[in-house]
Amino acid sequence: MFDVLVVGAGPAGLNAAMVLGRQRREVIVVDRGTPRNAPAEEMHMFLSRDGADPARLREIGRTELAAYPSVTLCEDTVTTITGEEGTFRAELAGGDVLDARRVLLATGLTDHLPDIPGLRERFGRTVRHCPFCHGWESRDQPLAVLGGSLVAALQARYIADRFSEDVVLVANGPLEVDDAVRRSLTDHGIHVEERPITRLDGDDDLRIVFSGGGVLGRAALFAFPSTTAQTDLGQRLGAEVLPDGCVAVDAFGRTGVPGVSAAGDGARSGELPGPAASVIAAAGSGATAAMWLEQELFRIDLDLPLPT
Ligand SMILES: Cc1cc2nc3c(=O)[nH]c(=O)nc-3n(C[C@H](O)[C@H](O)[C@H](O)COP(=O)(O)OP(=O)(O)OC[C@H]3O[C@@H](n4cnc5c(N)ncnc54)[C@H](O)[C@@H]3O)c2cc1C
Repeated sequence: MFDVLVVGAGPAGLNAAMVLGRQRREVIVVDRGTPRNAPAEEMHMFLSRDGADPARLREIGRTELAAYPSVTLCEDTVTTITGEEGTFRAELAGGDVLDARRVLLATGLTDHLPDIPGLRERFGRTVRHCPFCHGWESRDQPLAVLGGSLVAALQARYIADRFSEDVVLVANGPLEVDDAVRRSLTDHGIHVEERPITRLDGDDDLRIVFSGGGVLGRAALFAFPSTTAQTDLGQRLGAEVLPDGCVAVDAFGRTGVPGVSAAGDGARSGELPGPAASVIAAAGSGATAAMWLEQELFRIDLDLPLPT
Protein backbone atom coordinates (compact mmCIF):
# COMPACT_ATOMS: atom_id res chain seq x y z
CA MET A 1 0.00 0.00 0.00
CA PHE A 2 1.43 3.39 -1.06
CA ASP A 3 0.76 6.47 1.03
CA VAL A 4 0.07 8.55 -2.08
CA LEU A 5 -0.56 7.76 -5.73
CA VAL A 6 0.43 10.76 -7.83
CA VAL A 7 -1.01 10.64 -11.35
CA GLY A 8 1.09 12.76 -13.72
CA ALA A 9 4.79 13.63 -13.71
CA GLY A 10 4.71 17.16 -15.04
CA PRO A 11 5.98 19.94 -12.77
CA ALA A 12 2.96 19.56 -10.46
CA GLY A 13 3.29 15.81 -9.94
CA LEU A 14 7.08 15.77 -9.72
CA ASN A 15 7.18 18.56 -7.17
CA ALA A 16 4.45 16.92 -5.10
CA ALA A 17 6.41 13.66 -5.13
CA MET A 18 9.54 15.44 -3.98
CA VAL A 19 7.75 17.07 -1.04
CA LEU A 20 6.27 13.72 0.02
CA GLY A 21 9.47 11.75 -0.62
CA ARG A 22 11.39 14.13 1.60
CA GLN A 23 8.92 13.24 4.40
CA ARG A 24 9.69 9.56 3.74
CA ARG A 25 6.21 8.81 2.40
CA GLU A 26 5.77 5.84 0.11
CA VAL A 27 4.82 7.49 -3.16
CA ILE A 28 4.17 6.13 -6.62
CA VAL A 29 4.11 8.54 -9.56
CA VAL A 30 2.48 7.21 -12.73
CA ASP A 31 2.93 9.12 -15.97
CA ARG A 32 2.06 8.38 -19.57
CA GLY A 33 4.47 10.90 -21.12
CA THR A 34 2.13 13.53 -22.60
CA PRO A 35 3.10 16.79 -20.89
CA ARG A 36 1.26 19.83 -22.19
CA ASN A 37 4.35 21.78 -23.23
CA ALA A 38 5.92 18.87 -25.14
CA PRO A 39 5.92 20.90 -28.41
CA ALA A 40 7.87 23.79 -26.82
CA GLU A 41 11.65 24.00 -26.94
CA GLU A 42 11.85 26.83 -24.42
CA MET A 43 9.99 27.72 -21.27
CA HIS A 44 9.73 31.09 -19.61
CA MET A 45 8.33 32.67 -16.44
CA PHE A 46 10.26 30.30 -14.18
CA LEU A 47 12.86 32.09 -12.08
CA SER A 48 16.33 30.54 -12.56
CA ARG A 49 15.11 28.52 -15.61
CA ASP A 50 14.13 31.27 -18.06
CA GLY A 51 14.55 29.90 -21.59
CA ALA A 52 15.26 26.33 -20.43
CA ASP A 53 14.09 23.27 -22.35
CA PRO A 54 10.94 22.04 -20.53
CA ALA A 55 11.92 18.41 -21.20
CA ARG A 56 15.19 19.09 -19.40
CA LEU A 57 13.28 20.42 -16.37
CA ARG A 58 11.30 17.18 -16.15
CA GLU A 59 14.49 15.14 -16.59
CA ILE A 60 16.21 17.04 -13.75
CA GLY A 61 13.11 16.51 -11.61
CA ARG A 62 13.23 12.77 -12.19
CA THR A 63 16.94 12.65 -11.43
CA GLU A 64 16.42 14.57 -8.20
CA LEU A 65 13.62 12.23 -7.14
CA ALA A 66 15.99 9.27 -7.44
CA ALA A 67 17.60 10.53 -4.21
CA TYR A 68 14.39 9.68 -2.31
CA PRO A 69 14.09 5.89 -2.04
CA SER A 70 10.42 5.92 -1.04
CA VAL A 71 9.44 7.49 -4.38
CA THR A 72 8.77 5.19 -7.34
CA LEU A 73 8.32 6.46 -10.90
CA CYS A 74 6.27 4.37 -13.28
CA GLU A 75 5.62 4.90 -17.00
CA ASP A 76 2.05 3.86 -17.62
CA THR A 77 -1.50 5.20 -17.88
CA VAL A 78 -3.90 5.17 -14.96
CA THR A 79 -7.17 4.03 -16.49
CA THR A 80 -9.39 3.72 -13.41
CA ILE A 81 -9.32 4.65 -9.75
CA THR A 82 -11.86 3.13 -7.39
CA GLY A 83 -12.25 2.89 -3.63
CA GLU A 84 -12.26 5.54 -0.96
CA GLU A 85 -10.04 7.47 1.41
CA GLY A 86 -7.48 5.07 2.84
CA THR A 87 -8.10 2.31 0.31
CA PHE A 88 -7.89 3.55 -3.27
CA ARG A 89 -7.12 1.10 -6.04
CA ALA A 90 -5.75 2.19 -9.43
CA GLU A 91 -5.68 0.08 -12.57
CA LEU A 92 -2.97 0.78 -15.12
CA ALA A 93 -3.19 0.24 -18.87
CA GLY A 94 -0.20 -2.11 -18.60
CA GLY A 95 -2.14 -4.39 -16.26
CA ASP A 96 -0.66 -3.41 -12.89
CA VAL A 97 -2.89 -2.62 -9.94
CA LEU A 98 -1.81 -0.14 -7.26
CA ASP A 99 -3.23 0.50 -3.81
CA ALA A 100 -2.83 3.86 -2.10
CA ARG A 101 -4.20 5.73 0.88
CA ARG A 102 -4.47 9.04 -0.99
CA VAL A 103 -4.66 10.15 -4.62
CA LEU A 104 -3.14 13.32 -6.05
CA LEU A 105 -4.25 14.10 -9.60
CA ALA A 106 -1.67 16.17 -11.52
CA THR A 107 -2.86 15.22 -14.98
CA GLY A 108 -2.80 18.61 -16.75
CA LEU A 109 -4.63 19.93 -19.77
CA THR A 110 -4.81 19.17 -23.50
CA ASP A 111 -4.76 21.92 -26.13
CA HIS A 112 -7.27 21.69 -28.96
CA LEU A 113 -5.76 23.31 -32.03
CA PRO A 114 -7.78 24.71 -34.92
CA ASP A 115 -7.86 22.36 -37.88
CA ILE A 116 -5.64 24.39 -40.22
CA PRO A 117 -3.07 22.45 -42.27
CA GLY A 118 0.46 23.21 -41.07
CA LEU A 119 -0.62 24.67 -37.71
CA ARG A 120 -0.02 21.66 -35.47
CA GLU A 121 3.55 21.17 -36.75
CA ARG A 122 4.38 24.78 -35.85
CA PHE A 123 2.68 24.81 -32.42
CA GLY A 124 5.22 25.71 -29.73
CA ARG A 125 7.47 27.48 -32.26
CA THR A 126 6.05 30.07 -34.68
CA VAL A 127 2.50 29.25 -33.55
CA ARG A 128 2.29 30.49 -29.96
CA HIS A 129 -0.37 29.76 -27.37
CA CYS A 130 0.11 32.48 -24.77
CA PRO A 131 1.59 35.99 -24.59
CA PHE A 132 2.73 35.46 -21.00
CA CYS A 133 4.88 32.49 -22.04
CA HIS A 134 6.17 33.74 -25.41
CA GLY A 135 5.05 37.35 -25.98
CA TRP A 136 8.45 38.73 -25.03
CA GLU A 137 10.19 36.52 -27.61
CA SER A 138 7.82 37.91 -30.27
CA ARG A 139 8.17 41.57 -29.35
CA ASP A 140 8.47 44.29 -32.00
CA GLN A 141 7.93 41.84 -34.85
CA PRO A 142 5.08 41.42 -37.34
CA LEU A 143 2.51 39.26 -35.53
CA ALA A 144 -0.89 37.71 -36.19
CA VAL A 145 -3.68 36.63 -33.86
CA LEU A 146 -6.01 33.86 -34.96
CA GLY A 147 -9.79 33.82 -34.49
CA GLY A 148 -13.05 35.45 -35.41
CA SER A 149 -14.61 35.85 -31.97
CA LEU A 150 -14.78 38.71 -29.50
CA VAL A 151 -12.15 36.91 -27.40
CA ALA A 152 -9.77 36.83 -30.38
CA ALA A 153 -10.39 40.56 -30.97
CA LEU A 154 -9.54 41.31 -27.32
CA GLN A 155 -6.42 39.16 -27.61
CA ALA A 156 -5.36 41.11 -30.70
CA ARG A 157 -5.78 44.34 -28.73
CA TYR A 158 -3.64 42.86 -25.95
CA ILE A 159 -0.85 41.73 -28.27
CA ALA A 160 -0.88 45.09 -30.06
CA ASP A 161 -0.78 46.97 -26.76
CA ARG A 162 2.08 44.95 -25.24
CA PHE A 163 4.24 43.58 -28.01
CA SER A 164 3.98 44.95 -31.53
CA GLU A 165 2.70 47.83 -33.63
CA ASP A 166 2.20 45.43 -36.53
CA VAL A 167 -0.63 43.04 -35.63
CA VAL A 168 -3.10 41.43 -38.03
CA LEU A 169 -6.20 39.66 -36.73
CA VAL A 170 -6.67 36.69 -39.07
CA ALA A 171 -10.29 35.75 -38.44
CA ASN A 172 -10.27 32.77 -40.84
CA GLY A 173 -13.80 33.72 -41.93
CA PRO A 174 -16.12 36.52 -40.84
CA LEU A 175 -15.09 38.41 -37.70
CA GLU A 176 -18.12 38.14 -35.45
CA VAL A 177 -17.95 41.30 -33.37
CA ASP A 178 -20.06 44.45 -33.27
CA ASP A 179 -19.09 47.69 -35.02
CA ALA A 180 -17.66 49.25 -31.87
CA VAL A 181 -15.19 46.38 -31.37
CA ARG A 182 -14.28 46.37 -35.06
CA ARG A 183 -13.64 50.13 -34.89
CA SER A 184 -11.50 49.73 -31.77
CA LEU A 185 -9.28 47.29 -33.70
CA THR A 186 -8.76 49.60 -36.67
CA ASP A 187 -8.40 52.66 -34.41
CA HIS A 188 -5.47 50.87 -32.75
CA GLY A 189 -3.77 49.94 -36.01
CA ILE A 190 -4.89 46.28 -36.08
CA HIS A 191 -5.69 45.12 -39.59
CA VAL A 192 -8.50 42.55 -39.88
CA GLU A 193 -8.09 39.77 -42.46
CA GLU A 194 -11.27 37.71 -43.00
CA ARG A 195 -10.24 35.49 -45.91
CA PRO A 196 -10.28 31.79 -44.94
CA ILE A 197 -6.83 30.34 -44.26
CA THR A 198 -5.78 27.46 -46.51
CA ARG A 199 -2.58 26.49 -44.71
CA LEU A 200 0.51 27.66 -42.84
CA ASP A 201 3.90 27.46 -44.55
CA GLY A 202 7.49 28.35 -43.79
CA ASP A 203 9.87 27.61 -41.01
CA ASP A 204 11.09 30.61 -39.01
CA ASP A 205 9.47 32.77 -41.70
CA LEU A 206 5.84 31.89 -41.04
CA ARG A 207 3.58 32.34 -44.05
CA ILE A 208 -0.21 32.35 -43.70
CA VAL A 209 -1.72 31.29 -47.01
CA PHE A 210 -5.29 32.40 -47.74
CA SER A 211 -7.94 30.93 -49.98
CA GLY A 212 -7.45 32.56 -53.39
CA GLY A 213 -3.68 32.59 -52.99
CA GLY A 214 -2.77 35.66 -50.89
CA VAL A 215 0.09 35.18 -48.42
CA LEU A 216 0.80 37.04 -45.17
CA GLY A 217 4.33 36.74 -43.76
CA ARG A 218 4.57 36.96 -39.96
CA ALA A 219 7.15 36.21 -37.28
CA ALA A 220 4.53 34.42 -35.17
CA LEU A 221 0.84 33.60 -34.94
CA PHE A 222 -0.91 33.57 -31.55
CA ALA A 223 -3.51 30.81 -31.73
CA PHE A 224 -4.94 30.62 -28.17
CA PRO A 225 -6.22 27.03 -28.36
CA SER A 226 -9.09 25.91 -26.15
CA THR A 227 -8.21 23.35 -23.49
CA THR A 228 -9.81 20.42 -21.71
CA ALA A 229 -8.62 18.17 -18.91
CA GLN A 230 -6.21 15.40 -20.00
CA THR A 231 -8.26 12.84 -18.08
CA ASP A 232 -11.68 12.47 -16.50
CA LEU A 233 -10.28 10.55 -13.51
CA GLY A 234 -11.36 13.36 -11.16
CA GLN A 235 -14.86 13.40 -12.53
CA ARG A 236 -15.16 9.64 -12.26
CA LEU A 237 -14.05 9.82 -8.63
CA GLY A 238 -16.92 12.26 -8.00
CA ALA A 239 -14.95 15.52 -7.87
CA GLU A 240 -16.56 18.75 -8.99
CA VAL A 241 -15.46 19.64 -12.50
CA LEU A 242 -15.52 23.29 -13.62
CA PRO A 243 -16.79 24.30 -17.10
CA ASP A 244 -13.22 24.33 -18.51
CA GLY A 245 -12.62 20.74 -17.38
CA CYS A 246 -10.45 21.64 -14.37
CA VAL A 247 -11.12 19.87 -11.09
CA ALA A 248 -12.29 22.30 -8.40
CA VAL A 249 -9.94 22.41 -5.39
CA ASP A 250 -9.75 24.40 -2.18
CA ALA A 251 -6.70 26.27 -0.87
CA PHE A 252 -5.28 22.94 0.39
CA GLY A 253 -5.51 21.37 -3.08
CA ARG A 254 -8.34 19.13 -1.88
CA THR A 255 -11.23 18.19 -4.12
CA GLY A 256 -14.53 17.66 -2.35
CA VAL A 257 -13.89 13.88 -2.43
CA PRO A 258 -12.19 12.70 0.78
CA GLY A 259 -8.65 11.55 0.09
CA VAL A 260 -8.46 13.00 -3.44
CA SER A 261 -6.33 16.10 -4.08
CA ALA A 262 -5.45 17.75 -7.38
CA ALA A 263 -2.79 20.19 -8.58
CA GLY A 264 -1.32 21.79 -11.68
CA ASP A 265 -3.00 23.11 -14.82
CA GLY A 266 -5.96 20.74 -14.40
CA ALA A 267 -6.96 21.96 -10.92
CA ARG A 268 -8.08 25.36 -9.75
CA SER A 269 -10.25 27.28 -7.34
CA GLY A 270 -13.77 27.87 -8.64
CA GLU A 271 -13.28 31.52 -7.66
CA LEU A 272 -10.81 32.05 -10.52
CA PRO A 273 -11.96 32.50 -14.13
CA GLY A 274 -9.44 29.91 -15.39
CA PRO A 275 -6.26 28.01 -14.48
CA ALA A 276 -3.08 30.02 -13.88
CA ALA A 277 -1.53 27.64 -16.37
CA SER A 278 2.23 27.90 -15.99
CA VAL A 279 5.08 25.65 -15.01
CA ILE A 280 5.94 27.51 -11.83
CA ALA A 281 2.30 27.72 -10.70
CA ALA A 282 1.86 23.99 -11.40
CA ALA A 283 4.99 23.11 -9.42
CA GLY A 284 3.87 25.39 -6.57
CA SER A 285 0.38 23.92 -6.39
CA GLY A 286 1.86 20.40 -6.39
CA ALA A 287 4.00 21.35 -3.41
CA THR A 288 1.05 22.93 -1.58
CA ALA A 289 -1.24 19.95 -2.11
CA ALA A 290 1.51 17.57 -1.00
CA MET A 291 2.28 19.49 2.18
CA TRP A 292 -1.36 19.40 3.24
CA LEU A 293 -1.64 15.73 2.32
CA GLU A 294 1.34 15.10 4.54
CA GLN A 295 -0.27 17.04 7.40
CA GLU A 296 -3.40 14.94 7.01
CA LEU A 297 -1.59 11.60 6.89
CA PHE A 298 0.57 12.24 9.91
CA ARG A 299 -2.34 13.49 12.01
CA ILE A 300 -4.44 10.48 11.08
CA ASP A 301 -1.57 8.11 11.91
CA LEU A 302 -0.94 9.80 15.26
CA ASP A 303 -4.64 10.30 16.01
CA LEU A 304 -4.32 14.09 16.14
CA PRO A 305 -6.89 16.71 15.05
CA LEU A 306 -6.96 17.29 11.27
CA PRO A 307 -6.12 20.67 9.67
CA THR A 308 -9.28 22.62 8.82
C1 LIG B 1 3.31 25.09 -26.38
C2 LIG B 1 3.28 25.42 -24.92
C3 LIG B 1 4.28 26.20 -24.38
C4 LIG B 1 4.25 26.51 -23.03
N1 LIG B 1 5.22 27.34 -22.54
C5 LIG B 1 5.20 27.67 -21.25
C6 LIG B 1 6.19 28.56 -20.72
O1 LIG B 1 7.05 29.07 -21.45
N2 LIG B 1 6.15 28.84 -19.40
C7 LIG B 1 5.18 28.33 -18.58
O2 LIG B 1 5.21 28.62 -17.39
N3 LIG B 1 4.23 27.48 -19.05
C8 LIG B 1 4.22 27.16 -20.35
N4 LIG B 1 3.25 26.32 -20.84
C9 LIG B 1 2.24 25.79 -19.90
C10 LIG B 1 2.82 24.53 -19.21
O3 LIG B 1 3.03 23.54 -20.18
C11 LIG B 1 1.86 24.01 -18.16
O4 LIG B 1 1.46 25.06 -17.30
C12 LIG B 1 2.52 22.91 -17.30
O5 LIG B 1 3.01 21.88 -18.12
C13 LIG B 1 1.50 22.35 -16.32
O6 LIG B 1 2.09 21.32 -15.56
P1 LIG B 1 1.22 20.10 -15.01
O7 LIG B 1 2.15 19.32 -14.16
O8 LIG B 1 -0.04 20.60 -14.43
O9 LIG B 1 0.78 19.29 -16.31
P2 LIG B 1 1.64 18.63 -17.49
O10 LIG B 1 2.99 19.22 -17.57
O11 LIG B 1 0.78 18.68 -18.69
O12 LIG B 1 1.81 17.11 -17.00
C14 LIG B 1 0.69 16.29 -16.82
C15 LIG B 1 1.19 14.85 -16.93
O13 LIG B 1 0.12 13.97 -16.54
C16 LIG B 1 0.20 12.81 -17.35
N5 LIG B 1 -1.09 12.12 -17.35
C17 LIG B 1 -2.31 12.63 -17.69
N6 LIG B 1 -3.26 11.70 -17.53
C18 LIG B 1 -2.64 10.58 -17.10
C19 LIG B 1 -3.09 9.27 -16.77
N7 LIG B 1 -4.38 8.93 -16.82
N8 LIG B 1 -2.17 8.35 -16.38
C20 LIG B 1 -0.85 8.67 -16.31
N9 LIG B 1 -0.38 9.91 -16.60
C21 LIG B 1 -1.26 10.84 -16.99
C22 LIG B 1 0.60 13.34 -18.72
O14 LIG B 1 1.18 12.32 -19.49
C23 LIG B 1 1.58 14.45 -18.34
O15 LIG B 1 2.92 14.01 -18.38
C24 LIG B 1 3.22 26.02 -22.19
C25 LIG B 1 2.21 25.23 -22.74
C26 LIG B 1 2.22 24.95 -24.10
C27 LIG B 1 1.11 24.15 -24.70
